[in-house]
Amino acid sequence: MERGEGRTRAGLLAAGLAAAVLLGGCAQRTAEPASGQIFAMDTIMSMDVYGEGGEEALARAEETIYRLEDLWAVTDENSEIWALNHSGGAWVDLSQETADLLSQALELCALTDGALDLTAYSAVQAWGFTTGEYRVPSQEELDALIPRIDYTRLELDGDGLRARLPENMELDLGAVAKGYTGTYLAEQLRQAGVTSAILRLGGNIQAVGTRPDGNPWRVAIQDPDSQQEATLGVVEVSDQAVITSGGYQRYFEENGETYWHIMDPDTAAPARSGLTSVTVIGADGTVCDALSTALFVMGPEEAADFWRAHPELGVELILVLEDGTVQITQGLEETFTLSQDRTMEVIAP
Ligand code: AMP
Ligand code: MG
Repeated sequence: MERGEGRTRAGLLAAGLAAAVLLGGCAQRTAEPASGQIFAMDTIMSMDVYGEGGEEALARAEETIYRLEDLWAVTDENSEIWALNHSGGAWVDLSQETADLLSQALELCALTDGALDLTAYSAVQAWGFTTGEYRVPSQEELDALIPRIDYTRLELDGDGLRARLPENMELDLGAVAKGYTGTYLAEQLRQAGVTSAILRLGGNIQAVGTRPDGNPWRVAIQDPDSQQEATLGVVEVSDQAVITSGGYQRYFEENGETYWHIMDPDTAAPARSGLTSVTVIGADGTVCDALSTALFVMGPEEAADFWRAHPELGVELILVLEDGTVQITQGLEETFTLSQDRTMEVIAP
């Protein structure tokens, strides 16, 4: 979606949304949803909200997205994350939402043994992913960055409403913010009485309830190897997040090498683990988003081991390996359909 090179905001909007949600052609006729499309959190977001009160609920959801974006935009001098990154090591006050997301994200950093590390931001920046001025840093520069990546140095005080970070470190919530936002909006919509909505936050999908006809939502997973945004397969979900991390989403090429935006915290360089994309499906968007990034860093074997070791998370995975093999976890056997002629393996518990 967010191909780093040369796409303007208008271009992105015109390109439409690749992480499609398929509405069956002969589904029974239902009332049209309230639909909106905005650009926020550096990506296109579109939402369809069905049922009475849809317009109002949609407007509130859009307001919420802008409010959360204002709290977390890492390059916005007025955001809470900017304040944390530029406080010179002093405590910074946080809103409840930032505190909630930071504390949940920190737990996920620990759970993934630092494959997710919010403080990978210095590396993201050094490679030019924040500005689009892409570059390949020297090994000396990378060596100097590695000690600045360490989420355990981020401190939250008692109630989590204050945080501080050492002076030479910076963090960003890019790996978790959209997942958190999806689930936050889903809850807001349910509380407003909405029983059917689909939220596309960049490549991340959040389903609320089922389709208006009572059938599950059918979410297309993008083929990471295709330049044409082809569909790899379709998964059926209700009330769940479907979140994908892939090297194809934001990258640049130099001297025949491809460099993408997901960093290995151990090397301060793009993670090369043998995976081209990771999709995580589950009830909690923050968990799914955190894991999509972390498992991409870990690679296929470690990702499968992690899944086996953490049944309590209630997630399912779709892994696409560099050789084109697709691996799905056992819980998806009934709900995932491959759209292409590829080898598919099932990861058993
Ligand atoms: P996602 O698309 O959810 O995989 O998140 C990728 C974004 O998270 C990047 O654009 C960076 O801003 C940030 N990031 C990159 N590598 C990591 C990492 N290992 N841990 C945490 N955040 C990361
Ligand atoms: Mg993520």
